[in-house]
Amino acid sequence: FRSVKIMGIPFANTTRNQFINQLQTRIQNHQNTFVVTANPEIVMYANRNEPYRNLILKADYISPDGIGIIKAAATLKTPLPERITGFDIFTGLLKWADQTQKKVYFLGAKPHVINLLTTKLAANFPGVQVVGARDGYYKDESLIAAEIKAQQPDIVFVATGFPKQEQFIASHRHLTNGLWMGVGGSFDVFVG
Ligand code: UDP
Repeated sequence: FRSVKIMGIPFANTTRNQFINQLQTRIQNHQNTFVVTANPEIVMYANRNEPYRNLILKADYISPDGIGIIKAAATLKTPLPERITGFDIFTGLLKWADQTQKKVYFLGAKPHVINLLTTKLAANFPGVQVVGARDGYYKDESLIAAEIKAQQPDIVFVATGFPKQEQFIASHRHLTNGLWMGVGGSFDVFVG
């Protein structure tokens, strides 16, 4: 996609459906992919924190997660079609992973949330191959890295909030040739 820059951050200029389709194509082609969903809070944080800015600029795609980003783009006369939240992408990819039996790894949220998540997945998305589900309050990052490397998931969802999730992805994305994405509070929202 072409991109629209807001405060130096290039946002994917595309619709929600086209965006999710593009990610599915990349997963099918085993292309290593890093997706950041950036809300205004993340844009402001990246603006004052250079290491974090450099880290998210290494992403393959940055989606406009928040009406503030859409409004800023319109004001700058470089409109973006619509808001694409982390939760939209998370649920869109889960539905597809269910139909296509993709291997998915889940990292993040509190232990009881990750337990509810695996139960809900088994009930509603039985085609999803859950190759790992760990809470986001881990002590030993190398253990998780080893598990991901051994399982080779098609998708790794990291729900530990920013900047932790993007830092984790930037240091480990080389372990698979799949998609890696930070999804913030999506696991909490998913389990309700
Ligand atoms: N979280 C986590 N590990 C941590 C800190 C937070 O797994 O060390 C989880 C927390 O339980 C919650 C999510 O990360 O599920 C943060 O959600 P939030 O909506 O605050 O994310 P943000 O929008 O700030 O990225």
